[in-house]
Amino acid sequence: MGTFYVVRRSERGFTLIEMMIVVAIIAILVAILVPNFMRARAQAQTAACEANLKEIATALELYQADHQAYPDVTTLTNVTNAETNLGPYLRQTPIDPVAPNGNYQYETTGYDTGNATYEIVCPGSHDPATLTAIGGTTGKVHITYSSANGFAAQ
Ligand SMILES: [Zn+2]
Repeated sequence: MGTFYVVRRSERGFTLIEMMIVVAIIAILVAILVPNFMRARAQAQTAACEANLKEIATALELYQADHQAYPDVTTLTNVTNAETNLGPYLRQTPIDPVAPNGNYQYETTGYDTGNATYEIVCPGSHDPATLTAIGGTTGKVHITYSSANGFAAQ
């Protein structure tokens, strides 16, 4: 009879309280990890977009090196690898991870003067929390890169 009792004890399942504690711990872990994962994803998208903007800026500098001037583009123009000016300097059309169907755009001012500048604008809407280092706030969700001021949120 005593032996039977010991076997029963070792084979018993979890009590309701034990199960509730395990479920509560899992819920707490999910509550902590899911927002972190979401933030990491948004942060990675912002980093990828900034890398694209740098790549387009490099294409503009390569163009400038070959032509001794930036392209004469005074209205925002789509950046694609088929575009007349920058196409030859881009391996592929840059894609913003938060706006895969949009196009980066660029324009220049004073292209043939000594103080020519350019600005590049991303098409996507980024999480403002990932843009705080460049002035992102609610309503400022696009990333721009200008030769004068570097990265900014717009
Ligand atoms: Zn972007």
